Amino acid sequence: MSAVIWFFVGFWGTEMVSAAIHRWLMHGPLWFIHQSHHRPGKGFFQYNDVFTLLFGGTGIYLLLQGSSSLNAGFWSGAGISFYGICYFLLHDMLVHRRIRGWVSTRFTYFRALQKAHRAHHKWVDKKPGESYGLFLFSSRYFRR
Ligand SMILES: [Zn+2]
Ligand SMILES: [Zn+2]
Repeated sequence: MSAVIWFFVGFWGTEMVSAAIHRWLMHGPLWFIHQSHHRPGKGFFQYNDVFTLLFGGTGIYLLLQGSSSLNAGFWSGAGISFYGICYFLLHDMLVHRRIRGWVSTRFTYFRALQKAHRAHHKWVDKKPGESYGLFLFSSRYFRR
């Protein structure tokens, strides 16, 4: 049972922590890195992708350290890694179309998520901004 709880902690913890990092650091002192995501150049990779490596590295480290004991860290690492996969599918594929593929906007929630994150990208400067999280956003994006 605690495996499920730690998985949820990993997943939703990543959403909370990354929203806070996005708001206060990436749109703050680390804007010089994150701006590459708001004003992308032509290449496939963005300087901003270092954040993906940091989150991905944390998830993989937690999975590896607990691969034999299946401890709390392992399950939260699984939650973080699952978050990373969902983030890639919805943020990089659905919203930004970095790789084209089958990610559908048939679902109301996905459509609202897309709207919320596009609202975040309306801003090409550090401040002001909105919708710093990806999966949790204001209910106003559900309105047409
Ligand atoms: Zn941003
Ligand atoms: Zn984005």
